[in-house]
Amino acid sequence: MGNIRLHDKSFRPFIEYDKIESAIDKVAAEITSDFKDSKDVPVLLCVLNGSILFTAELMKRLTFKCEIVCVKLSSYIGTQSTGEVRDIIGMTGSVKGKRVIIVEDIIDSGRTIANLVKMMEANGASETKICTMLFKPGCYKLDKKIDYVAMEIPDDFIVGFGLDYDGLGRNIKDIYVLDENMKYYILFGPPGAGKGTQAASMAERFNLCHISTGDLLRGEMAKGSELGLKAKALIEAGELVPDEIVEGMIENKFDSVKGFSGFLLDGFPRTTAQAEALDKMLAKRDTSVTGVVSLMIPDEMIKERIKHRAAIEGRADDASDETISNRIKTYHEKTEPLVEYYKKAGAYNEIDGTGTIEEVRERINSLMETL
Ligand code: AMP
Repeated sequence: MGNIRLHDKSFRPFIEYDKIESAIDKVAAEITSDFKDSKDVPVLLCVLNGSILFTAELMKRLTFKCEIVCVKLSSYIGTQSTGEVRDIIGMTGSVKGKRVIIVEDIIDSGRTIANLVKMMEANGASETKICTMLFKPGCYKLDKKIDYVAMEIPDDFIVGFGLDYDGLGRNIKDIYVLDENMKYYILFGPPGAGKGTQAASMAERFNLCHISTGDLLRGEMAKGSELGLKAKALIEAGELVPDEIVEGMIENKFDSVKGFSGFLLDGFPRTTAQAEALDKMLAKRDTSVTGVVSLMIPDEMIKERIKHRAAIEGRADDASDETISNRIKTYHEKTEPLVEYYKKAGAYNEIDGTGTIEEVRERINSLMETL
């Protein structure tokens, strides 16, 4: 499943239909167990338009006698909850003297549900229970407990299975989440160019998640994981680890990291195959590389800088002349062709990496403002 586009926005797959169905099975079983011996005929209150699909799926799983009443209340304009509940178009039947189960598609702050509960009381319901397909515990502000929750989700804007973005998306059977316009920057350059040093301040200034494949691999080595063991010999010889390993690590991060405006890739891609794999990962997300920031220093300076770093960080692959030479050779052979690759893509930007850390930072910041 890839991204979908609705109006001006892109959404990525979030909850597949199978998972939604199992969650509805579970919540329907809970409700049935609570209501199955009742002598009365409870009312399901379908809150239009969002809970049409959920109500339909839920109803067919309930084995006790029940009625349905619809009500229209909508509180969303665009992707932000406006705080106001608008458009009460009334109910399609009476709830007087009846037990009501409000069936919502999604509950976030709880404002809508608070209004609905009041409305049920005002219309003479004898009891009001609340059932929701999706619940955002992080946003919920009421004391009232939600009686039946099919699935809990974080505070994201979602569409599908009844939920819309400005009218579209309700008919999609899976649930999708808004894929914010994430930026994907590549910090490029030979070993020792200062990528790691500059990455920290770039990440902070531009709210980016810094992913250094070298750091991730060293983390695995320190843990002694299977992956770390596989990588160790190659890294210490100044060779590259296999493409699939780093590609997997990168995709995992793309899928799991939240709260950033984008990613800063440091040490990835390092081969044409990795660059192609990255293009595919981004195409799946309906986007492409935002820009390459290439820090360039001459070969003589590479050795000097790495020796200086060896004294500070004690990295095994900085220790021997042979390894350093092999890394420089690997860089020229396998990684440097990416300069042409990204020039062709129109994403390449070169920065003079010589000078003090602050001077280079200034150059990077001026460039980043334009990307
Ligand atoms: P770095 O910290 O970026 O200098 O990376 C240290 C070492 O980790 C490299 O010399 C490679 O052996 C390995 N490595 C890091 N990133 C990659 C990558 N994208 N592809 C293959 N190997 C990598």
